[in-house]
Amino acid sequence: MKKIFIAVLFLGTLFSSNGIFAQTETSGRTEYRQTHTKSTELKHTKLKVNFDYAKEQMNGEEWLTASPHFYPSDSLILDAKAMLIHEVALDKNGAKTPLKYAYKDDMLRITLDKTYTRNQDYTVYIKYTARPNEVKDKGSAAITDAKGLYFVNAQGKDADKPTQIWTQGETEASSAWFPTIDKPNQKTTQEIYMTVPDKYVTLSNGLMKSSVKEGNGLRTDHWVMDKKHAPYLFFMGVGDYAVVKDKWRNIPVDYYVEKEYEAYAKQIFGNTPEMLEFFSKKLNYDYPWSKYAQITARDYVSGAMENTTAVLHQESAQQKPGDLIDENRWEDVISHELFHHWFGDLVTTESWSNLTVNESFANYSEYLWNEYKYGKDFADYTLMKAAEGYFRDPSNVTKDLVRFNYHHKEDMFDAVSYNKGGSILHMLRNYLGDEAFWAGMHDYLKTNEYGTGEAHQFRLSLEKVSGKDLNWFLNQWYFNSGHPTVS
Ligand SMILES: [Zn+2]
Repeated sequence: MKKIFIAVLFLGTLFSSNGIFAQTETSGRTEYRQTHTKSTELKHTKLKVNFDYAKEQMNGEEWLTASPHFYPSDSLILDAKAMLIHEVALDKNGAKTPLKYAYKDDMLRITLDKTYTRNQDYTVYIKYTARPNEVKDKGSAAITDAKGLYFVNAQGKDADKPTQIWTQGETEASSAWFPTIDKPNQKTTQEIYMTVPDKYVTLSNGLMKSSVKEGNGLRTDHWVMDKKHAPYLFFMGVGDYAVVKDKWRNIPVDYYVEKEYEAYAKQIFGNTPEMLEFFSKKLNYDYPWSKYAQITARDYVSGAMENTTAVLHQESAQQKPGDLIDENRWEDVISHELFHHWFGDLVTTESWSNLTVNESFANYSEYLWNEYKYGKDFADYTLMKAAEGYFRDPSNVTKDLVRFNYHHKEDMFDAVSYNKGGSILHMLRNYLGDEAFWAGMHDYLKTNEYGTGEAHQFRLSLEKVSGKDLNWFLNQWYFNSGHPTVS
């Protein structure tokens, strides 16, 4: 996730921080935000969806394959926000047996047909309607809404705006468009059949395996993601886009832009293949996913989002040669979202408290790319700007980088997790030396790939590679707050 409109965001942060301060002081809030307990292990999520543009709803069918995580269990508890649930059944090779369920307070509690053990997979079928406009969560300063699924100009009433559909999962809004365990410590493979008006293109995670015309002006695209990732990284986009094709090694690199920007798509996003090569080499870990696409969206609720293989950028990414003549103001965002495909998508924060293992790395990737492409002086200048961003909000001084007592999970998306965390990585790199730092980064990815991470796992990798104890460093910089004052 990348926030932009720093000034606006900063105001929002100030207001919300003041609110937290007031609450902390008066109520002494010390709630411990523990990592979500894994009772169930998601395995595969298969969806068939179509869209009701008039009602701004989505009709969905889901086949969810899962098993108990460790302890035997006869129940499956899913997040499902503001939905209508029509049918819940056990699916055994296509034969459906109805299951008992209770749907209340955005939780779908399903009673399975028997007790399953941890090695026994089952598949549950759910027929539902997603109603994003009924979702009660209201978002935050960093992510200004939490409807999960967004219809833009769905009835075509605004002549100046394209009709689009897009989704935004982070932090826990994917469960507004499919029932799931909407926590970052779950991972599942995925396939989605999206039925849309034939005039539109679609984008989702992974590769499109088929595209079939339905004969009534509709078309069904089948997208398959064969490597597991967290539910908040699921994505669907639908609209009238030009798709500009690029390539890195044998991996398709696609840019989805509104048609009037088609001619400039490579000027905006064209450094992506070079970034893929640079980061793959630096990490000694080749980009692990089947394609890399970037799409723009109208009325987006944040800056950009690292949905695996299907990054969403807000509309200001779209620039014309007049805008691009001095600089591409979106380049930091492009490197940030790409780097998340290792730090965030491949190894995912196990909880929002540990968001640093996603956002500090993505933040630091902006420095790394700038250093490589434009030189150390320019990169150092951007690092100074980042530090200024941290210092601007006095409340940042009191926040630990890893925080188990945040007020709202989206408060974690602040200048501590981003700016300060990125600067701390820069410090670690200088302390350990380039070679040890990069070997440690590689070890952390390799050890935790397709799983989750927390700050201690990063420490263990750096210690293993360098032979140096780093508890003192993490205690000071990750589990404590503030900064040295030099006078
Ligand atoms: Zn980010």
